[in-house]
Amino acid sequence: MEHVLRSTSSVVRSRCSCSSARQLASTRPARTFSRLASSGHNSSRTRTRAAFTPICRKVDSVGTSRNYAVWGDRKNEREKMTEKVELRQLFNSFSDSPIPEIRRRAAFIKQHSYCPHPDHRPTRMNLNQDPSEQVVPGNLAPAHVDFECPDCGIPVYCSKEHWQDDYEAHLEICDTLREINEDDHDLRSGRVFPEFEYSGPGIDEAAINMTNWDTFLYTRDFEAINDDRSMRQATKLLTYPLTVGSIIHELSPYNLRNRMTAEGLKSMSALRYTLHPPRSGSGLDVKGLRPEAPPVRVFILGARAESSLPRDVWIQLAYLFPQSKFHLIFIGPESMANRDNEFPLPERTARNPFGAIVEDRVWFSMKISTIVDYYHTVHKTGYFHPYDPYLDCFVLFHPGLGHPASSHEWEETLPLLLETKAPIIATGYTQYDMQRDIDWVHKSCGGEFDVLLDPGENTFRSLRWDLNDMDPQDVSCGNWGVWAFRGKRYEATRKTGL
Ligand SMILES: [Zn+2]
Ligand SMILES: [Zn+2]
Repeated sequence: MEHVLRSTSSVVRSRCSCSSARQLASTRPARTFSRLASSGHNSSRTRTRAAFTPICRKVDSVGTSRNYAVWGDRKNEREKMTEKVELRQLFNSFSDSPIPEIRRRAAFIKQHSYCPHPDHRPTRMNLNQDPSEQVVPGNLAPAHVDFECPDCGIPVYCSKEHWQDDYEAHLEICDTLREINEDDHDLRSGRVFPEFEYSGPGIDEAAINMTNWDTFLYTRDFEAINDDRSMRQATKLLTYPLTVGSIIHELSPYNLRNRMTAEGLKSMSALRYTLHPPRSGSGLDVKGLRPEAPPVRVFILGARAESSLPRDVWIQLAYLFPQSKFHLIFIGPESMANRDNEFPLPERTARNPFGAIVEDRVWFSMKISTIVDYYHTVHKTGYFHPYDPYLDCFVLFHPGLGHPASSHEWEETLPLLLETKAPIIATGYTQYDMQRDIDWVHKSCGGEFDVLLDPGENTFRSLRWDLNDMDPQDVSCGNWGVWAFRGKRYEATRKTGL
């Protein structure tokens, strides 16, 4: 299978390098990143669907890969270039923003979201809020939002009166909304973004401290990020590789005293056995040849925007494990969303039955494949068999397992995942979002799973908050919470007394 994937990838890469070469001259990396980090979201399930702009790679003279231009629509690209406006201040009301993209967003919010004042009849069930917290509604007809709060600059109520009347409730999120407003303007301010310059590979002997973002960035030798805003922009992308890395690494902040269960330790020890191999005395010459473990496969299911994150971001995962190799496999019907115009999917052939796009030179120890299909379809063909808890791991970023709009898509997948007995790491946008997923897993498969990591706030969550354009009251952040589970293992034991 490997050689099939390799040949596919060479076609892909040659196409990719042509289009990137044409665009390199006109696109600055900082702008690419600013758009990457700024993607908005529309609803709980579709949040990350407004995909990060896909990227191409160019390997520079020292072999590190840098992200440059785009596969995106060229017309859009030109349009966005002209949108760059000098900002005098970061805080601007959304409707009067000097940035046309933000003004369009304000128009979208005004068109689609409703006034949250309790006097209005509800228009739809709020799927992202705990029903017990929802108040009994009044009889006024629903109204779209129109009034922009002067403190956060985001359209939140239908009128000034309703805003004043409900001010206490609004105060709970006003500061966060203002922060979102300023962060969005900051990304388009045209400033230089040193926080998107990532650290290269570390020294093997240098231990990483994963207690929190600060200790991690410091011990990984990142450029110092001294203000909160830059930290928020940086963590919005880095949360993806770090959430996975922080759980499977031997220096994980999660241990038996901190949320990791005994089952979890067993499961992670298996993976860590492969990820942190003992020194074998291997070297580059013939005498130094040693058998090596195959790459650890990280299956990222239901992949959306995370599949088009700059590869520099994903390579950070490889840097955490200098002794081992990774194969990231993004699977999901939306894993190439917004990228197909410039980057048509390869034909499905006998040699490449799922039309996988393979990037096998992302980093010498990392390869990335993307498959646009449902995981259960692939699983049933036995394409990735056999699964091994020492080599495989599943990751679900905000899967919406229990979300009414998406849980049916997971029904077929869940039993197959549990059958593999490999660890499944899942994240959620908020406490409520994550709890709903956990409840759904309990309901769908009874007691047939073991919790490996107790649910709770993710040490490496994105520090940046996001706004739901369909409902500005609904703020969330990437990978807010994390938990892990796997299919129950039954071990043969001797009955005592026999
Ligand atoms: Zn109102
Ligand atoms: Zn406000």
